[in-house]
Parts: sequence; structure tokens; C-alpha cells
Amino acid sequence: MTRTPQLPAPPIAAIALACLGVWMMASLGQPLGLILGGPCFLTGAGLLLRQGLLHFGSEARVKSDLELENLSLKDLGRKEDHLRQGILVNLREGVVLLDSRKEVRLYNPAAQLLLSNSSRFTMGGSLHGIFREPETLRHIELAYSGQETEWTLARDPRALRLRAIPFESVDGGTSVLLTLDDITRQEALETTRQKFISNASHELKTPVTSIRIAAENLMDGGFVAPEGENNLKAILRSVDRMTMLLNDISELSRIETGALRLEFLPLQIGVFLPQLLEEMRHQAEPRRISLKAELEPGLEQLVMKADPLRLHQLLENLLSNAIKFSPEGSEVVLRIQSRAPWLLWIVQDSGPGIADNDAKRIFERFYRAPSTRGVPGTGLGLAIVKHLVLLMGGEVSLQSELGKGSTFTVKLPIQG
Ligand code: ADP
Repeated sequence: MTRTPQLPAPPIAAIALACLGVWMMASLGQPLGLILGGPCFLTGAGLLLRQGLLHFGSEARVKSDLELENLSLKDLGRKEDHLRQGILVNLREGVVLLDSRKEVRLYNPAAQLLLSNSSRFTMGGSLHGIFREPETLRHIELAYSGQETEWTLARDPRALRLRAIPFESVDGGTSVLLTLDDITRQEALETTRQKFISNASHELKTPVTSIRIAAENLMDGGFVAPEGENNLKAILRSVDRMTMLLNDISELSRIETGALRLEFLPLQIGVFLPQLLEEMRHQAEPRRISLKAELEPGLEQLVMKADPLRLHQLLENLLSNAIKFSPEGSEVVLRIQSRAPWLLWIVQDSGPGIADNDAKRIFERFYRAPSTRGVPGTGLGLAIVKHLVLLMGGEVSLQSELGKGSTFTVKLPIQG
């Protein structure tokens, strides 16, 4: 709040009174001039003196009020600076603020420490002094276009999770706040977990195979009495399920640990598609499901860059879900559409559909919608699909309506 200084009114009456006194003393002669003019002059001069003092006094008071106000604002500013510094210095997370010119406006010691010596931090310095990794620069650009984004960055010896948050700065442009978390420990634990799962599933495959061979020998050799046959069949069914589970687990852990390398090759849609449909029809026929393919004109000739084995695997997962969850006698359609630079692979069924709550979770490992638990499965197929699509630089999405069916859309780059 600003205060207007209240200065006294100009002392016109006092000046007039003193002048009148002088005039009387000069023009009325002695002693009358002195008797009448003297008190008049003294009163006027006294008033003048008093008002003058008052004036200077109040001016000084206003000045000191303003100074005080100024001082307390400075004090407040200093306290806020101190608080901000205290927060930034003590944060374990790194913080970097980039202004609308992509220059560093603020950073804390944790950011310097986490990004190690390979970054040159200077106030007002360019963002490129801190980051040179193409993926990181791409994410920061994305934040400047208004999209909040998150990614991981390996800076020896650390693994970092970065988040870029865009916001409007005072000049009307976009500034970006970067936060950095040290996730080295979590990453190490995750790697140990993945290695354990990978080794365990691999080691379990051998005894499971031995059980299968022994059970099959018993069955084929007629060594079991008819009443024991049902138990033997139950063993074989469980072994099948266990084999399926172990295959999916080791496949997923190969993808997650980065052990799986994709091999991008030229792939002609018109050659790839009939082979895939041929295999899938074997699954569809026992359930009398008609499997149709719909291609946009000219797409048979299209040659895309893809890993044929893995593309086959992810489409097989989606198509076998569509087949197994759909009612007998219904139709499953695979549509292929070009939306350059993308190719869309759309799998549509008229099965039970997926509730919104389940749709949020079905790409997680082992998640199976409660309504479909009667149908055999491992709960890992869609997790594998999601990881493969990401490895291929694409996206997978789902539209579904309960009771009407589901549509999974896989968007892949035509050029790999
Ligand atoms: P699985 O099929 O082995 O159970 P997935 O990971 O492939 O595992 O799928 C996870 C869950 O998502 C399924 O258990 C099912 O509940 C749901 N789901 C997947 N595809 C469909 C579909 N086409 N229609 C209805 N539900 C589906």
C-alpha cells in the first residue's frame, strides 16, 4: 500500500501578518508603528517559524516512513531469497530452470552433482552446455512445445529420471522446469529382478520338459491303468500351461533386459500377410470364427522396414486374443491402413469388450480382466505386445465398448 505524504498548507497568512507588521512599523512612525506593527510582525514571524519547523518535521517523517517501507521490502526480499536458496540447496532432487530463450535461469547443487562434471553450468548459459544427448534434447523441445514429458538418462555412474514441465514465463514465452531424480539404485534392483526371472524361467524349462516327456511316455506306452489316465491328462494340461507361462516370462524378460535385438528388414505386406492369416486360421477354425483381412488399395505392394518375426509375434498375440475372447461363429477383422509415415494394424473383434477400469491395466504384466478369467491365458501377451511396439518405435491403443467388442490399433513407422 502506498501512502501520500501530508505536508502543511503554505504559510500565506503568517507571511501576510509579518509583512503587515513591517509595513506598520515603517509607515506609522514611532511609537505607534512599533506598538501596532511590532506584535503583528512578531506573531507573523512566529507562525512562519512554527509552520516551517512543522513542514520540515513532517517531510522528514514521511521520508523516514518511506525509507522504513523500503527497508522492510528489502528485508522481505532477502528473507525470500534465503528461503528459496535454503530449499534449492537442500533438495536431493536436481532442479534446472530454462527460460524462454533456452538459457539457464536457475539451478541447484544437486543438479550439478547428478549431471557430474560433463556439464558446464553457468547462469545465462545455453542448455547445450548441460545436455548433449539427442534424446534429452528431443524431450526438452517437446516440453517447449507445451507437453510435459519424462524420460531416463544414463550419466555415468548414475541413472537419472528427468521430468520437463513447461510453464508460461513473465515475458509471455515458455519456460521449462527440469527435475532430476537419481534412480541408480532402483535401476540396479530392477536389473537384478529381471535377471533372476530370466534365469529362473530358463532353469525351470528343463524339468518341465522332462515331466512332459515322462508323462507322454506313460500315456503312449500303456503303462497306466484306465482309471489313472485322467490324472495323466491333467498332468499334461498343467505342463502345457506351465510351458506357455515360462515361454512368455522368458520372452518378456528378454525384451525388458534389452537382450532382445530387433532385426529390421524390408517386408512386403502382400507376402507377409497371407502367411500370418494362414497360421491364425488354424486357431480360428475350431471356434468357427471367420478371420478377414481388409487392406487399403495398393498396400499389398508396400514394403515396410520391420522385424518380421517380432511383427508376426505381436499380431499373433492380438489376433489370438480376439479369437479366444470372441463368441463362436463371430468375425475378427485385421485392417491395414497407411497414414504416412505410419502404418496402422487394426485388430477388431465383436467379443465381450473391456471395461474402462480393466482397459487401464490390461497392458500390465499378469493383469487379466476378472470377467475373462475362465478363458486360458497367462496375462503376459499384451505386456509383450506393448514392449515390442515400443521397441519398434510405435504405439498401441485400445478402443472398446462392453458387450460390443474391442479394437486394438498398432501404429508402426513404415521406415522402421
Ligand atoms: P491373456 O490373454 O493371456 O490373459 P493378455 O495380456 O493377452 O493375457 O491380455 C490381458 C487381458 O486383457 C486378458 O486376460 C483379457 O482380460 C483382456 N483382453 C485382451 N484382449 C481382449 C479382447 N480382444 N477382448 C476382451 N478382453 C481382452
